[in-house]
Amino acid sequence: MHEVSLCRQLAAAVTRATGGRPVETVYLRVGELRQVVPEALEYAWTFVVRGTPLSGSALALDHVPAVLRCDDCAVRTRLGPGLGFSCPACGSARTHLMSGEEFVLTAVDVHDEMPPAPAGPVGDDAQRGLPDGALSPS
Ligand SMILES: [Zn+2]
Repeated sequence: MHEVSLCRQLAAAVTRATGGRPVETVYLRVGELRQVVPEALEYAWTFVVRGTPLSGSALALDHVPAVLRCDDCAVRTRLGPGLGFSCPACGSARTHLMSGEEFVLTAVDVHDEMPPAPAGPVGDDAQRGLPDGALSPS
């Protein structure tokens, strides 16, 4: 599945960028020509990141239109269904894509602070978090 392999690459990039900190939101620029289905990508993401520090994070997709630029007349054209890769203004075939093929990690929101302590007894149970052996032997 196309989306799964994209998510695996993305998860690896996010993990490198965040050093394993818990992640809230992952921001992406996704070009139109990638033909990514957002719902499929989000589904693949929850599946790929399950059990990792990225688990529970959300994807925020910024869609990038596919834009063609003509090398001869410099006209920029938004690619659309039924349009080829030749320039609609002058007919030149010497065109190139300016955008539309992106799949780029642009930003990540991480939890900067420790997550809030769960509501419950505190104080008399304050040493709960110490690892075994941290207290003097009794
Ligand atoms: Zn042209």
